[in-house]
Amino acid sequence: MEANCHCGSVCFEVSRDPVDIFDCNCSICRRLGTLWAYFRPDEVQLVRGSGHTDVYRWGPQHIEFHSCRTCGCTTHWQSTSNPDTARKMGINARLMDALDRSSVRLWQIDMGESGIFWPPASPEPDRSGQK
Ligand SMILES: [Zn+2]
Repeated sequence: MEANCHCGSVCFEVSRDPVDIFDCNCSICRRLGTLWAYFRPDEVQLVRGSGHTDVYRWGPQHIEFHSCRTCGCTTHWQSTSNPDTARKMGINARLMDALDRSSVRLWQIDMGESGIFWPPASPEPDRSGQK
């Protein structure tokens, strides 16, 4: 399974298909609009794009959020400074073209920052208010 940013500069290969995908409503994740798939770092190989990401560090655990320097897509987060969070990393599942949505479970993580979640998707989008 591959995860590619929009321009293709950054590409990950993960050693297993994700089963669980996480929609987190903390102050950073809800702004990024990411859906996270968690992996151990040894399950993830950076195929392209080493050094091609901008890094935003945030949070008490100094988590690094990476985005492609060219197209701006949020690609992943990682932490090297905290032993707990360094055991896993998050890859943005929205970058996985081959992901079979019927085979994954979507979880919403309520971090309590605001309680904001986008509502569950409707079977058919209501476009009646759009031109
Ligand atoms: Zn890119």
